[in-house]
Amino acid sequence: MAAPLMSGSSLPSITGAVDPVDILLVDDQPARLLAYRAILAPLAENLIEANSGAEALKHLMERECALILLDVNMPGMDGFETASMIHQHPRFERTPIIFVTAVNVSDLDRMRGYKLGAVDYVTVPIIPEILRSKVVVLSELYRKRRDLQLANQRLEAANEALKVEKGRELDVLNESLRIANNQLAARNIELQSQIADRVSAELRLLEVNRRKDEFLATLAHELRNPLAALGNALNALQLAGRTDPLHEAMQRQLKLLVRLIDDLLDIARINRGKLTVHRVPTTLRAILDSAIETAMPLLLSDPHPLDVRMPEQEIALYADHDRLSQVFSNLINNAAKYSPAGTLIELVAESDGHNVEVAIIDSGIGLAPGHADAIFEAFAQVDTSLERSRGGLGIGLTLVRRIVELHGGRIVAHSDGLGLGSRFSVSLPLEPIPAAAAISLTSPDDAATRVQCRALIVDDNQDSADTMAMMLKMLGHETHCVYDPRQTTEAVNAFAPDVVFLDIGMPGLSGYDVARGLRLSESGAELTLVAVTGWGHAEDRRRTAEAGFDHHLVKPADMATISAICNRLTPRSRYRA
Ligand code: ADP
Repeated sequence: MAAPLMSGSSLPSITGAVDPVDILLVDDQPARLLAYRAILAPLAENLIEANSGAEALKHLMERECALILLDVNMPGMDGFETASMIHQHPRFERTPIIFVTAVNVSDLDRMRGYKLGAVDYVTVPIIPEILRSKVVVLSELYRKRRDLQLANQRLEAANEALKVEKGRELDVLNESLRIANNQLAARNIELQSQIADRVSAELRLLEVNRRKDEFLATLAHELRNPLAALGNALNALQLAGRTDPLHEAMQRQLKLLVRLIDDLLDIARINRGKLTVHRVPTTLRAILDSAIETAMPLLLSDPHPLDVRMPEQEIALYADHDRLSQVFSNLINNAAKYSPAGTLIELVAESDGHNVEVAIIDSGIGLAPGHADAIFEAFAQVDTSLERSRGGLGIGLTLVRRIVELHGGRIVAHSDGLGLGSRFSVSLPLEPIPAAAAISLTSPDDAATRVQCRALIVDDNQDSADTMAMMLKMLGHETHCVYDPRQTTEAVNAFAPDVVFLDIGMPGLSGYDVARGLRLSESGAELTLVAVTGWGHAEDRRRTAEAGFDHHLVKPADMATISAICNRLTPRSRYRA
């Protein structure tokens, strides 16, 4: 006889579960199954009945249950056996089982049950509240676990979706990065080729510029030979007392040509960084005198009165006399060139003991705002009809600035505007003069000493040689010309000159070689050797000095300098006048 199922009849207060779980009720007695159902009905869970262990297993194959209420005493397969079989299955090994036992469970049976994975026991008569509360706890636990599992699955799915989404975004990003990279690489290649083009264009420009400078230097040099012949011929005419106004005009034009050529050569030197200054002890007055003298023809031609104001006391300078004189004659010439005829030109020199400042002021065409700096750039000319009519290459001021800079000074142009005149101020530092003083070729004593000497002229340019000889003859010297440098030694032996004027660039044998040969020979060792050449750079002078020359003259050689050289000779013979 089965024990009464319930010890009380009060119904639990718990009502329907939100999401019912399956609870398997296993008992061989239908009455008990009914009783379980009645007790658990208020929980609104899904109650499934089985009246044997085998049937319970069959149900479990079809669904998952939150817990199993299992009668221990069943015919055939008892509760423990059923529990053991259930928990052997991996899917149900953790499914909680509440054993229902009619008799008091011995400690041994409890042990057995717990070993089989039972979580609890209820005894008959069942106290409904106890059974319900146990079932509620286990159902909730199951529900929580199931919810947790579900949440985990959703999380995993969301994670997976996120991964996929992020992966896709990353792929898109990677792709656009790859495209950007490719574009960058292509642009890089393009830029590199542009850089290479520019570098090669720059190299080409540099080469063209170098060739242009070389061409300017060669052109100036080549122009000097015919100019030398012309200059010599004009000097000879002058010495012959031919003071025809035509000759004077030719002299003036020749001087202009020589100046233009010198300027061209100097520009080439500036461009190659080879313009140098040769400082000598001199005075501001001497420099300005020589500049005014050079500019005088232009000052007289228009004419322009020149007002010179300079300190009473002598201002000593250690400077390149000729180059600074070139600076000031250029500025005075410009003042005359760019001013209407008859207008005053002022030259004002002042010194504060550390610097000397020389200003050349005119009241001519002036400079437009912004032109005061630009006019110092090479070939810069302000294009107005008046200037155009005055000619010029636009290199004078470039030279002026460079020469002033080489003296540690500076030049500034100022004008109040077009038509309002200009002021060019040159400021030079007063350098201490070293003890050793250079001896000028054209010292005042030279004019007083009159010497007749024998001069041999060696030049493959026959006109140059002949006109030089003509000029020397008129200066009172005896001359002999040789047009083939290889005949020099023979001519020296036969003519016994005191001085040899030697061209440098000659076919067959250069002037350097001739000079070296003469210096080694008995007859040539004591001779005064003068190089007469189109090349006048410091490097050319160094080379002629090295080859044994005593003097270096640039074509067309200045008559006064030639005369000074001859007059300082000590002729070896009876030729002294
Ligand atoms: P050039 O006189 O041969 O053209 P310069 O280098 O001496 O070359 O002068 C450059 C330019 O500066 C001139 O063409 C002229 O436009 C301007 N310039 C020089 N001196 C004066 C001056 N005193 N007044 C006005 N403009 C001047």
